[in-house]
Amino acid sequence: MESKEFETLGIILAIKNHGDNDGVIKVLTQKGLFFLFARGIQKPNSKNKLNIPLLGLVNLEIIKPKIMGKIATLKRATLISFFPINPLLQDIFKNVNHFLNFMNNNNLDKLIETYKLFLNNVEEKPNHSYSLILLSFLEQLGHRPNFKSCVECINVDNIIDFEFYKGGFICNLHSSSKKEINFLKSVFWLNKDFNFYKNNIDEKQAIKINLMIVEFLSSLI
Ligand SMILES: [Zn+2]
Repeated sequence: MESKEFETLGIILAIKNHGDNDGVIKVLTQKGLFFLFARGIQKPNSKNKLNIPLLGLVNLEIIKPKIMGKIATLKRATLISFFPINPLLQDIFKNVNHFLNFMNNNNLDKLIETYKLFLNNVEEKPNHSYSLILLSFLEQLGHRPNFKSCVECINVDNIIDFEFYKGGFICNLHSSSKKEINFLKSVFWLNKDFNFYKNNIDEKQAIKINLMIVEFLSSLI
């Protein structure tokens, strides 16, 4: 017999009250976007309520609906990691929430894994962590840049430019605009090793990278 319950990791995107006591939760899970009925969530003694902060990463035990197409029910939520409450992180919070709503795909294991790393670093290194999750959003939308060679000719030498919207690095034969070497190095390390990126790359570069990815993402969705 098929199991009536399943367990998944999810990111809480929205919570709406339903009636006097209950609620409906919008959550991005490893299997895509779901709405869950959450019984008693408005009651002051609800255990689940404390475990579902907005943008928190949560382990969810879910009861499948009896009838196909109906809404599933939240059985138990266990908080794994939460988005820090910090006014300085407001813009990142808002944008990440916005973009997560477009990540509806049935295999989000990698995104959720990256999201965990993002949450664990966002307070200490907000702009660097933001780069990490933004790059993951691009990848989910099928626009992972080419970090290895020129996007036009597979040349690995004489790389002088990089654009997210053009698909990655570009050599001197295929671009007339030159980016500073520190910027090219920063992009390289963002892809290669997040620990190195967050500890060694100048914040100014991270901010520049973030602006470029946000602009490109906004044109895609
Ligand atoms: Zn080229």
